[in-house]
Amino acid sequence: MGDIADYLLEQEENFNCFLGVFPRRRGRIPKFPPKFTGKVFCDYCGAKAELKDSSEIYGNAEWARGKKVWVCSRYPECDAYVGAHSATQAPLGRLADPMLRQWKKMAHVEFDALWKEMGMERGEAYEWMQNNLNLSPEEAHIGKFDVEMCQSLIRAVQEYRRNKRN
Ligand SMILES: [Zn+2]
Repeated sequence: MGDIADYLLEQEENFNCFLGVFPRRRGRIPKFPPKFTGKVFCDYCGAKAELKDSSEIYGNAEWARGKKVWVCSRYPECDAYVGAHSATQAPLGRLADPMLRQWKKMAHVEFDALWKEMGMERGEAYEWMQNNLNLSPEEAHIGKFDVEMCQSLIRAVQEYRRNKRN
């Protein structure tokens, strides 16, 4: 069973993913982006993922109403899923198992501190992430990370904080 923290962390990346999936045209964000029509596969077992109502994962909580999630078709045997973008229904990254969900959560706590506590603008923090981990703007989203990448990000932020203190 996922919880609201899982879900909100994914939503936090919404805006950036949105720009990544649908790059700005003539400086404007399209008002009605097309629905995602691609196929999504589980990164663990290779089975197809299905777009489901988030209540199947998050229960009947008020906040989850109307939201969608990409879930491995072998769920719950294969416990892997990722939130869907609310406008396009595109997956907000790769499917995550319980271990990856934990690491993503920890990576978010560390990374968000850069722009919530360490005086960076949010955009600067994402640029910092790209430079430090050698990622393209499209790759620089925690939702797209595997466990190893989450760990690299956490190490990089901790090192940055240490250097800032000294
Ligand atoms: Zn699976």
